[in-house]
Amino acid sequence: MVSRVIPVDPFDLVIFGGTGDLARRKILPGLFRRFCAGQMPPEARIIGAARADISEADYREMVGDAIEEFSDGAVVDQDHLAAFLADLTYVAIDAKGENGWRELAGHMRRDVVRAFYFSVAPGLFGDLAERLNNHGLTDEKSRIVVEKPFGRDLATAQQLNRDLAAFFDETQIYRIDHYLGKETVQNLMAVRFGNVLFEPLWNSQFVDHIQITVAETVGVGGRGEYYDKSGAMRDMVQNHLMQLLCLIAMEPPARFDPDAVRDEKLKVIRALEPVEPHHIVRGQYGADTEDPIAHPDYRTAVADLKSATESFIALKTHIANWRWAGTPFYLRTGKRLVARSSEISIVFKETPHSIFGEEAGRHRNVLSIRLQPNEGIKLGVTIKEPGPGGMRLMDVPLDMTFADALGEEGAENVDAYERLIMDVIRGNQTLFMRGDEVEAAWAWTDPIIKGWQQRNDVPKPYDSHSAGPDAATQLMRRDGREWREVAL
Ligand code: NAD
Repeated sequence: MVSRVIPVDPFDLVIFGGTGDLARRKILPGLFRRFCAGQMPPEARIIGAARADISEADYREMVGDAIEEFSDGAVVDQDHLAAFLADLTYVAIDAKGENGWRELAGHMRRDVVRAFYFSVAPGLFGDLAERLNNHGLTDEKSRIVVEKPFGRDLATAQQLNRDLAAFFDETQIYRIDHYLGKETVQNLMAVRFGNVLFEPLWNSQFVDHIQITVAETVGVGGRGEYYDKSGAMRDMVQNHLMQLLCLIAMEPPARFDPDAVRDEKLKVIRALEPVEPHHIVRGQYGADTEDPIAHPDYRTAVADLKSATESFIALKTHIANWRWAGTPFYLRTGKRLVARSSEISIVFKETPHSIFGEEAGRHRNVLSIRLQPNEGIKLGVTIKEPGPGGMRLMDVPLDMTFADALGEEGAENVDAYERLIMDVIRGNQTLFMRGDEVEAAWAWTDPIIKGWQQRNDVPKPYDSHSAGPDAATQLMRRDGREWREVAL
């Protein structure tokens, strides 16, 4: 099976922050791959805009280098690269001043989709929105894409929403969460809503609990200063883990369209119960014992030996509605853990009665959705252990991994950013967060963070390359449950 690539409409895409880390690592290499796949029409134009006063030739060279460096080991086709770079434009611009705006206006065309990617610090979002408006650069076809973090609490998120709403309608604002662009996250919705098998079981009657783990092996690296003001709760839980939780827990939307899906996600966030302090474990990683100089402990890495910011969090929460009453949701994320792994597991209840006797073993079905590495969906089913020796039960995975089912050609490897940028051009907001969703997520997060501050809560130390603090294991064990192993 060969995947179909449907070209998008002609567009002008301006990348503010076009020389930055995100643009070089993700946005531009992603656009190049869509170019190679034939999804960008010949009239498409990409304009990098950033503070650096560099020539167009220098910018093209920088982007060419970035595409080579961040091609994930794929061989870069030099003819395609030359053609892609030949159409690239660069404008030196000041988001806070007037420099460069007239030049940018001179590059924009009429009658094409205009998209503006704000790949800059959130402190510049309002300035960019205002200047785009003042310089007449936007029309009803224009869209803006904004990056995380979208605020650091409810008040700042509300302010950002107001800053953008002053110049753009909500239908023009694309708040990106790249987790929603992952193939498997969309496949989760296909599996859930495209089959009769799962939905009848998708509730507290049949589901014992749900766990979501996003584990990283890296530490804070060069982002220490930023990260220490944020922490795992703000950096990961409020956005990425929350979005995954919503897709698992939401009611079936009437249609797979932006507002139908986002209305259902919003209801989940609003139904989340406040988290009890003893249902949260925070941690800070220790130094790598093998190489403590290159990989120091968290506090050394962020240059604050008294830092109380968490690099790990595990928590238990509930959703107060008919479907999920009594079913715990366990969330866990952290840095410098034993493996890089993102997985959602729906752990079903045991059968009400075992006809095989205790010696055959009791098993639970687990639907696991792996976001990285090796994206895929597996359902653990119980069968008889083959061979003689009586009836003993064992688990085997039913593998629903797209690439395995359809072969290499069927599964074109489309990165989350590529998919989401193409959705922006198509005008499809389904996989983007709406303003009220982001605010509701902060409204749930804020009291938790305030509680830590009031109690002077100090994160527990945990070993580098471990599964986090032991208290996180105990959080589950107290309930007679176990985290699924963080392993490759
Ligand atoms: P960066 O510091 O590498 O790049 C910042 C860019 O903004 C540069 O191109 C710079 O020229 C431009 N800029 C700064 N001040 C400007 C001004 N006054 N006028 C015009 N341009 C100006 O940052 P980054 O890592 O690329 O991150 C960009 C945004 O994306 C941030 O909001 C960040 O939080 C978010 N983000 C980044 C990553 C990542 O992996 N880098 C991941 C998720 C979200």
